[in-house]
Amino acid sequence: MSDMSKTLFTRIIEREIPSDMLYEDDVCVVINDIVPQAPVHMLVIPKKPLPRLVDATVEDQAILGHLLLIAGEMARKFSVDEAFRLVVNNGADAGQTVFHLHLHVLAKGADDEGFSELDIAN
Ligand code: AMP
Repeated sequence: MSDMSKTLFTRIIEREIPSDMLYEDDVCVVINDIVPQAPVHMLVIPKKPLPRLVDATVEDQAILGHLLLIAGEMARKFSVDEAFRLVVNNGADAGQTVFHLHLHVLAKGADDEGFSELDIAN
């Protein structure tokens, strides 16, 4: 794949672009969002560069399930498993800016109280 056709997240996965990488396995990586919208804001990114959620097919079922499991594991790891949100922006009009599927994991920090003021709809 030429550099021009790689997504931003593929370039991060391949270490062409630096990131704050929290986790990696054969299927996905987890990085900290560069512009966090909450005290905890991680991105769970499949290595397969599916542009949007709607571009996934039944063949991608195991990948999609894996992303959810890892999101939960990461929430546990960062002690926010009692209160976190998952966001997937699908399409530019929904706020998607990087066309490589990713799950936003958003939470207040483990020591922060409540969830009501967390504006994570971006
Ligand atoms: P979305 O708007 O749903 O496509 O989300 C894209 C997310 O990627 C945004 O929250 C950005 O802040 C984040 N982002 C963009 N560039 C980087 C980067 N180099 N490292 C980490 N996160 C990034």
